[in-house]
Amino acid sequence: DVIGAGVTLDDLPLRDDLRGRSPYGAPQLEVPVALNTNENPFPPPPALVESVAAATREAAATLHRYPDRDHVALRSALAAYLTRATGVRLATENLWAANGSNEVLQQLLQAFGGPGRLALGFEPSYSMHPILAAGTRTEWLPAPRRDDFSLDAAQAVDVVREKRPDVLFVTTPNNPTGQSIDLDELRAIAEAATGLVVVDEAYVEFSSGPSAVELLEPLGHKLVVSRTMSKAFAFAGGRLGYLAAAPAMIEALMLVRLPYHLSSLTQAAALAALEHADDTLALVATLSRERDRIAAALAELAAHVVPSTANFLLYGGFPARHADAHAAWQAYLDAGVLVRDVGIPGMLRVTVGTPEENDRFLEVSATVLAA
Ligand code: PMP
Repeated sequence: DVIGAGVTLDDLPLRDDLRGRSPYGAPQLEVPVALNTNENPFPPPPALVESVAAATREAAATLHRYPDRDHVALRSALAAYLTRATGVRLATENLWAANGSNEVLQQLLQAFGGPGRLALGFEPSYSMHPILAAGTRTEWLPAPRRDDFSLDAAQAVDVVREKRPDVLFVTTPNNPTGQSIDLDELRAIAEAATGLVVVDEAYVEFSSGPSAVELLEPLGHKLVVSRTMSKAFAFAGGRLGYLAAAPAMIEALMLVRLPYHLSSLTQAAALAALEHADDTLALVATLSRERDRIAAALAELAAHVVPSTANFLLYGGFPARHADAHAAWQAYLDAGVLVRDVGIPGMLRVTVGTPEENDRFLEVSATVLAA
């Protein structure tokens, strides 16, 4: 018997506002085809694996010392990458990294949210945003998208003017729906904001549109752009998220970050992975093409497919026996394909996999979607 197994959550002096909540997380199941967490399906290329192994081996020799608290070498490499990717000249002081962009977002809420403060996001969107708000005791206010899940910029401007959130989240491309917002519309929304504007660009490499990094020059006093190596860089297990912002924003985050939050091993591995950025990012084009292929094939099967600029697709149109999307989800799982039930009635989200995985997904889709 496990010591303490008789103790339940109800027995603990847990904060009242956390009672009854569920932890974030999709089921981690062993299945032949896992298309449920928006990972990159291609393992890192062998040269990258070698570089990471060599770099972490070297870092292992100094594990008796704390890491560089301000991870300057990594920030400088991220600044160089982002400068190349966006054409906007960024300095080391403009970058900040943490263990996944989830931690970046949490640090932002620790510094700019909190009790008595309000965060706002346009739902459906990334469900960690309200969970991070709850953890930092920031009030969460959901605002609507259009029925087709696109963001109505004029309506967004109105809601931002009226509610004056301390922290505004705009996810583009949006998870789980896939659409991006135009830069001029984003700019209008950001200009209407009186608080911090967090643009979550976790999937931006899969879109062909420009980055909100282009808005940092005019809007640096309120804008931060959050990114991650989890998706395009095939580095989800490495846990490395980052943001670009004015240096003062980063000074603010230093007030709340745990000292030495990024281990020597993480810093070394991420730096090594970044040296191979061109190889990893070359596969992004393949994934974008596969996304468009899946979207067209699903439409052929009479599915309703939401246009996506990310590495996943939200789709519906299931027949009566699967009218409840969870029944459709189970039918996929029974066939060895794990997709995501994101809680939107009648719809499921599928992550773009390898061409073979996508073929299998489409094969199963033909039976799940058949009347
Ligand atoms: N933002 C969005 C919109 C996401 O979908 C995700 C991952 N699901 C994240 C941030 C966080 O990813 P990570 O912590 O791995 O960087």
